[in-house]
Amino acid sequence: MYRSIKAHITDIVIARLDHNCDLYEAILQLAKDNEITLGKVEAIGAVKKATIAYYDQTKKKYEELTIDEHLEITSLIGNISQRDKAIALHAHVNLGAKDGRIVGGHLLPGTPVFACEVMLSRCEGPLLMREFDDTTRLPLWKL
Ligand code: ZN
Repeated sequence: MYRSIKAHITDIVIARLDHNCDLYEAILQLAKDNEITLGKVEAIGAVKKATIAYYDQTKKKYEELTIDEHLEITSLIGNISQRDKAIALHAHVNLGAKDGRIVGGHLLPGTPVFACEVMLSRCEGPLLMREFDDTTRLPLWKL
């Protein structure tokens, strides 16, 4: 049914991202600069446009989507673990448009920040690596 480990939050890095920086790259860099190898991410703010992806479960591949409009980050949630011995960010984002529409998906680089507040929680626990999963063809946690 599931595989699990236990970890606990030791501290939280609080950051305001710079205007025009890339949302994905900035959060990943924040984790690297703070040597966070296991953690969770929450953020709110706004972006100038967004690049997200939807994972097609039948084709087993990501379909990239660019939304070229100003959007609110109504919710960004993600985690930090390790992939190929490097710190890796996996984040999903819900974005609100001017007319109240919500779009969302798997966050990719290519999302310039208008303003963004990030809370990055460091977890202490076992090493959490990603490995290729044959069933889903995704890099899932090795537990
Ligand atoms: Zn994802």
